[in-house]
Order: sequence, then C-alpha cells, then structure tokens
Amino acid sequence: MNILVINCGSSSLKYQLIDSESEKVLAKGLCERIGIDGSQISHTPAGGKKVTEKIEMIDHVAAVDAVLAKLTDASVGVVSSLKEIDAVGHRIVHGGEKFASSVVITPEVLEAIEEVSDLAPLHNPANLIGIRSCQKLMPGVPMVAVFDTAFHQTMPKKAYLYGLPYEYYEKYKVRRYGFHGTSHDYVSARIAEIFGQKREDMKIIVCHLGNGASVSAVMNGECVDTSMGLTPLEGLIMGTRSGDMDPAIIGFLAQKEGKTAQEIIDICNKKSGVLGLSGGLSSDFRDLAQAAQEGNELAATALEGWSYRVAKYIGAYAAAMNGVDVIVFTAGVGENNVTARAQVMSYLGYLGVTMNEDANTIRGEEVEISTPDSKVKVWVVPTDEEMAIAKATAALV
Ligand code: AMP
Repeated sequence: MNILVINCGSSSLKYQLIDSESEKVLAKGLCERIGIDGSQISHTPAGGKKVTEKIEMIDHVAAVDAVLAKLTDASVGVVSSLKEIDAVGHRIVHGGEKFASSVVITPEVLEAIEEVSDLAPLHNPANLIGIRSCQKLMPGVPMVAVFDTAFHQTMPKKAYLYGLPYEYYEKYKVRRYGFHGTSHDYVSARIAEIFGQKREDMKIIVCHLGNGASVSAVMNGECVDTSMGLTPLEGLIMGTRSGDMDPAIIGFLAQKEGKTAQEIIDICNKKSGVLGLSGGLSSDFRDLAQAAQEGNELAATALEGWSYRVAKYIGAYAAAMNGVDVIVFTAGVGENNVTARAQVMSYLGYLGVTMNEDANTIRGEEVEISTPDSKVKVWVVPTDEEMAIAKATAALV
C-alpha cells in the first residue's frame, strides 16, 4: 500500500510517500513558508536528486496541491496518478485523553481533535488544516490520525497527575500527556524484536534525544511514565527548551524583565535548553561539542547539564519500574552523538552498565553499545516516525 505521511506545521508541511509493505520510502519533501512570501517546495524521489522550486503557496490547500503535483510529475514523480495513493497518515500532536491509539478520521474524530486543541494551540490547528486540505484534494481517500500522545495514555494516575488542586484536572484536563509517543512505541517494540522477547516481558527505558527530547519507561508492554508533560516543555534539558524547572521562576522573571508569563514561557521553549545555557551559542550538539573541545566553558557546562538530566531520568525510571533490562538511545543526538551517549552512560555504573568503547563509535545504526557482561544492556535503535505512521495507517485501512 502506498501511504502518504503528512506532518503539518503552521507554515510548513513535511511529507513522505511510503510503500508500507516493502517499507520503501518512494519520495519525501518539505513545503516551507506556506502563506508567507517566498514559499518553496523541496522534493526528493527515491534514488533521485532533491529538487527545490519556488511556488506561491497561499495556504495549506495550495501546499498539498504542490505535493500531489510533484508526486505525479512526469520527471520527478513516483506514481503515475493519485489513484496510486491508497491512504494518508497524519501526524497529530495532541490527542488529549480522547485517543489512546491511531484512528481512521471521521467527522467525529475531527471534532474531537478540535476539542483538545487548546492543549496544543500551536500544533493541533495546523494538523487539522493539513487533514482538511488533503480531504479537499483527495476526496474518498481514507485518512488516519496518529497521535504523539497516544502511546503514553497507559500511564497510571500516579504518574500523570500533577501535585495541583484536583479540580484543575477535572475542569481543564491539566495532567501529564507525554509526546514523541510514535517513536517511543516504535523503538520499544523494535528492541523487543531484536531481543527475540515479548515487549510485555521486558523493562525498557527509551531515551529519544533529538532537538526535542524525552525519556519513557515501558513495562508490561506499556508506557508507565514519560518525561514530557502537559506540553513538550517538561522533562529533559533540550535543544532550546528548559525542561523541568521551578515554576516560580516564570513569575519572578516576568516581574524582573517586565514581560508577560506567556513571553517567559516562549523564552523557556525557544531560547533555553543547551542554546540558553551556552550563552546563545547554538542548539546543535555538533556545534556545542566542537566549542567545548576548543575550550568554551559554557558549551561544556551545557552538555554536562544536558547529560546529567538524562541520567537522572534514567535513574528515576529504573526506580519506577523496580529495575530495567535495556536502555535504548534514539533520535538525532541519541543515534549519532557518541560523546553524549558516553557522558550519560558514565552515570550508570550503579546499574551494572559497562560501555563497549569500540561499539560506541558507531552512528545511526542498530547496535549494542554495552559490553556482553553488562548487567543492563544499552542499545542504539534509530527511530523512524514516518514509517511507524505509515504502518499504523496501513493497518487501519
Ligand atoms: P533531531 O531533532 O532528532 O533531528 O536531532 C537533532 C540533533 O541531532 C541536533 O542537535 C544535531 O546536533 C544532532 N545530530 C544529528 N546528526 C548528528 C551527527 N552526525 N553527529 C552528532 N550529532 C548529530
């Protein structure tokens, strides 16, 4: 089945056309600056060169139209007509408490996604626009919603409730939801497959370490805890997000800086994390590693603070599950940054973790990076959220 996977942002649209049976990516691309001057599409067919074209895209319907034109184009296209696209899988950021798994999109589902939009005001409205644009241009093609939050819906109350007046949960559904669920699900399922065991019989800690980052604890085949919360701001120190901090800081800084609470929260989301800690140097771990090597102390401190926080979450989740069989690194930093992995692992001796230094030079591949006698195993498993969305979509239609 050919599945078009759509990840729609407020002014961007990422897409991949995937053959879900052969697991082959037929084409992928990105529309940028939708609704803004200078909009463009870049499109890469499998085995071909990336083509970038400036096309006026006044809205998301125009962007989807441009995507479909590229996919069926005589020279850079990969299908001869739209009839060869069997279904569309949409990445939806927030499913609230309404969605614990992927669903076929119906008018009721659209309404339910709309209802939880105030929990993700930047993301869900854009995701909905993506769905409606595809429905307009591809009438009759089945569409599926795959939620970032769904995998974490199995968390028990003790893990998802904040220590706040209970009425805020009842009135506004203020609770921890977690994100990157498609990745945590895919990676924990894959590591069980690699071990030849049932996921139900394993205690797994997945560290999704990219620009956005989160850790999850998977036990009895389910997510029992994860580090992101009501929004993706909670948990680890990330590329530009602060992660956990004393909430009183928001009021304190708002007063000192003459800003609103929302403006401080924007700073916590966009100017903090390793970017903020490094004095604004970079959110990219390659830049920070190089700067640290050249003696930049702030860059070194940012990386130390980042790995210390990851290690603390691993410790917390080993305690939450009363043990851990395997720790898995994934996403941009987890898959590629061998120094960051080594820094995190340097805290894990108490768990009986020993690192295989030779193996921990490997990037972007499935590899065990602990020694054969390591009590707790440590692996790298590359994530593939688009493939997971394509498979979830194919399974439902
Ligand atoms: P993601 O959000 O998963 O795309 O991850 C982005 C982060 O991954 C960036 O901070 C990059 O520095 C890091 N990253 C990606 N590729 C590499 C690489 N080859 N070596 C080191 N870090 C990398």
